[in-house]
Formats: sequence, structure tokens, C-alpha cells
Amino acid sequence: MANFDLHSHSCYSDGTLTPAALVARAAQRGVTALALTDHDCTDGLVAAHIAAVEHHIRLIDGVEISVSWRGHTLHIVGLDIVPTAPALQGGLAAIRGARSARAREMAAAFDAMEIPGTLAGALRLAENPELISRTHFARFLVQQGVVKDMSAAFRRFLGAGQPCFVALEWASLADALRWIESSGGLSVVAHPGRYPLDTALMRELLAEFSDLGGAAIEVVTSSHKPQQYRVFAEHARHFGLAASAGSDFHSPQESYHDFGTLPALPSGCVPVWEKLQ
Ligand code: AMP
Ligand code: MN
Ligand code: MN
Ligand code: MN
Repeated sequence: MANFDLHSHSCYSDGTLTPAALVARAAQRGVTALALTDHDCTDGLVAAHIAAVEHHIRLIDGVEISVSWRGHTLHIVGLDIVPTAPALQGGLAAIRGARSARAREMAAAFDAMEIPGTLAGALRLAENPELISRTHFARFLVQQGVVKDMSAAFRRFLGAGQPCFVALEWASLADALRWIESSGGLSVVAHPGRYPLDTALMRELLAEFSDLGGAAIEVVTSSHKPQQYRVFAEHARHFGLAASAGSDFHSPQESYHDFGTLPALPSGCVPVWEKLQ
């Protein structure tokens, strides 16, 4: 039986495995179709495809785009994109540039708290100097013993409202969906249960997403508790959206759901993979 995992990260963004190691791990753990969805970057896809042939696994070209919507950061996954599409690449390059500027500001905030060397430390942990993430700062803080784990790094320093958080205006929802559509892909709201939106605002988001041509929302994801699977399955049904499933795997040490351990979609969902080419 097919086993889809449509959300994962390699070292081209804030995962720790190379695309080849990621694909090998997914295949060994029973995933038969994997989407590599690095944050704001598609450079890992070439190596992932080569590994996918070797490991007899289907590799779906993906990306996870950082978006600002009404003051909230959202993540929109693009599936089955053509990575070379110019509008998509132009948009992603702009986001990566903004990430680098934000990283310098975050480092200045750490300096002000007498925690030096964070930019160099984060860059050392980022295999792709073009894609610097809060995750790399968090790993550096753990490595230095400033905090005991990743979650403490976000709780104390990097999370929204914490002293080293630097707000960034990411892509607009409309732009992200336009880039994905113009590259032939399907748009998916990543881990909707993670956003601090009440039900009314969640409905506004999903209505707008659906009007803009969005295809699906993640129903089964590591970010959701089992009781949220039903809640988001119902949202999907209400808005005529398909349902996606992905581990959001980042690292063997840090990920809540390893490959091959995702539960099935709740009954009644239209799986987004039925819409993939
Ligand atoms: P960025 O896109 O650079 O703002 O970083 C966001 C990334 O940080 C997410 O994609 C997650 O991988 C990671 N992240 C966010 N919150 C947490 C948390 N509380 N604990 C661990 N990792 C987190
Ligand atoms: Mn991440
Ligand atoms: Mn995400
Ligand atoms: Mn992700």
C-alpha cells in the first residue's frame, strides 16, 4: 500500500540530514512517496531525486514557503512544483535574503544579552549559508549549553515575543499561492493547528486560501494532537479542501514523528495525493 509523507526537511533548510540520507531513511521506514519541502529553498531536490531512484521511492518536488497573514506567520507547502519556475525562484530568493538580514539582527539581540558568537555559530550549523533559520540558532544554543533543549531555546529567546525574536514580513498569502500555481504545484496550509488563530479567524484564513485556489490543508502532522485530526478534517470538508499528511521530519533527534509512523487520514477526507500528477 502507498504510504505518503508530504512534508520533510533536509540540510538545505533546517533539517540535519542530507537529501540522500533523508530519502534513504524514509524508504527504509516504509514511506513510498515522500515530498521534500525545505523552507524557502528547492536546492535539495536534485540530490533527493537521485537517491529516490536508488531507493525505489517516489519523490515529490516540494517547498514550504514562509508567509505573513494578518500579523501571523503561516507556512504554505507547495507540492508537485516545477522548481525552476522563475516567479517561484524569484520569490524564494527574496525570502532568503530577508532571512539573512534577520539573522544579523537576532545575533545583535543575543550580543546585547551577552550571548556572543551566535551568528557564526548558527552559520556553522547551517549547511546552506543561504538559508539561515531560527532552528540553527536554537541548535547552537543547545550545543553551547545555554539552554537544555530546542524547545527551551524558543521559549526563552527565539519564540514570538521573546527577547531575540525579530519579526519579519514574509511573503503575502496571495503571492505564495501565485508562485506555487505558476510552477504547476498544489498549495497546502501546513500544520494549521499550530497557529494561534481562534475558530473565526481560522475560517477566514481557510476561506481566503480556498478563494485564492489553495488545494489542501495538513490534517495529519506531527504538530497536531490526535483530537485535532478530526477538527481539521472537518475544516477541510467544510471548505472543499483536500487533506494532506506529513511528518515535518527535521532530524532523527528532534522529530516527533519519524518516517513511517504517521496515522492514516480520518475517514471522509479527500487525500491530496489523489490530486497529484
Ligand atoms: P524560522 O522559519 O527561521 O522562523 O524558524 C522556524 C522553524 O523553527 C520551524 O520551521 C521549526 O522547525 C522551528 N521551531 C519553531 N518553533 C519551535 C519550537 N518551539 N521548538 C523547536 N523548533 C521550533
Ligand atoms: Mn523547520
Ligand atoms: Mn512549518
Ligand atoms: Mn516544515
